[in-house]
Amino acid sequence: MSRIVYVNGTYVPEEEAHISVFDRGFLFADGVYEVTSVLDGKLIDFDGHAVRLERSLGELDMAQPVTKDALLEIHRELVRRNDLTEGMIYLQVTRGADADRDFAFPDPDKVPSTLVLFTQAKAISKSAAAEIGLKVISIDDIRWGRRDIKTVQLLYPSMGKMMAKAAGKDDAWMIEDGQVTEGTSNNAYIVKDGTIITRHLGNEILHGITRKAVLKFAREAQMKVEERAFTIDEAKAADEAFITSASTFVMPVVEIDDVSVGAGTPGPVAQRLREIYLAESMAAAQ
Ligand code: PMP
Repeated sequence: MSRIVYVNGTYVPEEEAHISVFDRGFLFADGVYEVTSVLDGKLIDFDGHAVRLERSLGELDMAQPVTKDALLEIHRELVRRNDLTEGMIYLQVTRGADADRDFAFPDPDKVPSTLVLFTQAKAISKSAAAEIGLKVISIDDIRWGRRDIKTVQLLYPSMGKMMAKAAGKDDAWMIEDGQVTEGTSNNAYIVKDGTIITRHLGNEILHGITRKAVLKFAREAQMKVEERAFTIDEAKAADEAFITSASTFVMPVVEIDDVSVGAGTPGPVAQRLREIYLAESMAAAQ
């Protein structure tokens, strides 16, 4: 059965969905995206993703294609039409298709933005990887300077995943000026002497929606949190490491550059945070 996807106001089978070859998302990576998880047919932290989308669009002078309420309805309709119980909804907004290829932005009153959403069915709550933990490598962070904007320029993160795969590992953590920025598609954390350490917010990392929720739950559970940069050597010497993202929730990291982190197995803090995050976000899901 083919998926029903959403393209600019219509719901169509995926093979009938089309966008222009002049779309600026295709030609210039001139677009932003969001990925919202679905558990038990409900959306996890929709509000967080909608707010970040609005911010990303604003930072790039792009118009909001539809209201937040309309966006919620499109998400729900896609869940319904595709009978999705668990997985993700991918959303992309681009600056639309101009009449020709041109570096200058088109007039938003003449060229409407493109809005595409589709579902991805995937078992995400019960994960074998969460039981084993991930192995990561470190790579240079050579991305642009506005990583806080969730743009579709994902070539380097994609290359990073391939570098990890070529090394027989699961993912890569990126390093800038000697310090860890984030994972290729997730935020990075270490735990030392009971303190959870993760890089502070800024233009250097994406402001993860899962990060925000996890840090809130950690503080509510009286865990100590430090938002500051850390080095890869500090990470290798940590008691635990983990990542967060909308599609992996909290996922332990057990090895960095061939060095075992802590006992080399998923640590208690990461495991507890994963449980808390799943329980709390399921309870608040819409
Ligand atoms: N950093 C990067 C570079 C990412 O691509 C992602 C996931 N899109 C994240 C962090 C995690 O963000 P979120 O928790 O909102 O999925």
